[in-house]
Amino acid sequence: MLIDRYNRVHTYLRISLTDNCNLRCFYCMPEEDYAFMPAKQLMQADEIVTIARLFVAQGVTKIRLTGGEPLVRKDAGEIIRRLGELGMQLTITTNGTRVAHFLDDFTIAGIRSVNISLDTLQKDKFQLLTRRDQFEVVKKNISLLLESGFIVKVNVVVVKGLNENEILDFIAWTKDTPVQIRFIEFMPFDGNQWNSHKLVTWQEILALIGEKYEIEILENHPHDTDKKYGVSGHKGSFAVISTMSAPFCSSCNRIRLTADGKIKNCLFSGEETDLLDALRKGEDLLPIIEQSILSKHKELGGQFSREFELIDANTLHNRSMIAIGG
Ligand code: SAM
Ligand code: SF4
Repeated sequence: MLIDRYNRVHTYLRISLTDNCNLRCFYCMPEEDYAFMPAKQLMQADEIVTIARLFVAQGVTKIRLTGGEPLVRKDAGEIIRRLGELGMQLTITTNGTRVAHFLDDFTIAGIRSVNISLDTLQKDKFQLLTRRDQFEVVKKNISLLLESGFIVKVNVVVVKGLNENEILDFIAWTKDTPVQIRFIEFMPFDGNQWNSHKLVTWQEILALIGEKYEIEILENHPHDTDKKYGVSGHKGSFAVISTMSAPFCSSCNRIRLTADGKIKNCLFSGEETDLLDALRKGEDLLPIIEQSILSKHKELGGQFSREFELIDANTLHNRSMIAIGG
């Protein structure tokens, strides 16, 4: 088992397949020109499966594929199918533009639930936020997933002045559509122009929804990062991920692997551990993984406190989100 100094057992691995993407979300990619990693720097399919197998042997029961956009990778289908054979729960977070090509892979690999990112229900705003004209495709693919029997969760990063005026539209969408909307507090990463005034907090989101709807609190599981809610009479539900205003570090069971094979023991950790290099040199990976887990900070990567108003995003030492794997 992978246990850290605070007795947190790590059972959930998030693997980034690539830092490449076919969208350009401003909160995820740095503003200046971003150079994607060269292919040879990325973990190859065999390497991903080898590392994943080792984590599963150490008690990991859930793997989420992410990126960048995991489904732009040419061998994404092969990787999904091979990971599906390892026996743990497999899920994916995707921008939804390419899922139609992967439904068979998802099914064969045992993926039951898919997280799709969609920050707006307005076509023009989608273009503004992502710099690409893919709104209709993503909406169509959400319908396709639902029709095909997948559970669909929709990730919405809420940014003040941009889309908090659509929170009620997203809730209205859940009336007849069985999606779970996950409102995510805007987080600071390298180059994403974060400041605390752009944050719409969990409490503000709930207050806004509460003005129009009667909110029911739904059951949460011990390691859930999302606080789940329902609205009576709605087929869908919603949740809030309060990373900034109410972090959930004490129950964290997550560990991340970047597309270039570095362990990040926290989304906000400044330190990384190069697992891919060790694998390519034929070294024993388990002690390296254990050491990384033991060095995990108690909270927020040791970089800032719960008082998010005090954060100076320019002093944080981290990658951009696209290079971490959200
Ligand atoms: N390309 C895929 C997608 O967009 O779903 C997977 C990778 S993306 C980095 C994973 C998740 O991180 C997305 O839901 C995205 O909205 C979220 N994300 C990216 N930057 C963020 C930020 N600064 N604050 C909060 N969430 C962010
Ligand atoms: Fe691409 Fe996802 Fe980042 Fe948007 S959030 S730029 S879709 S990786």
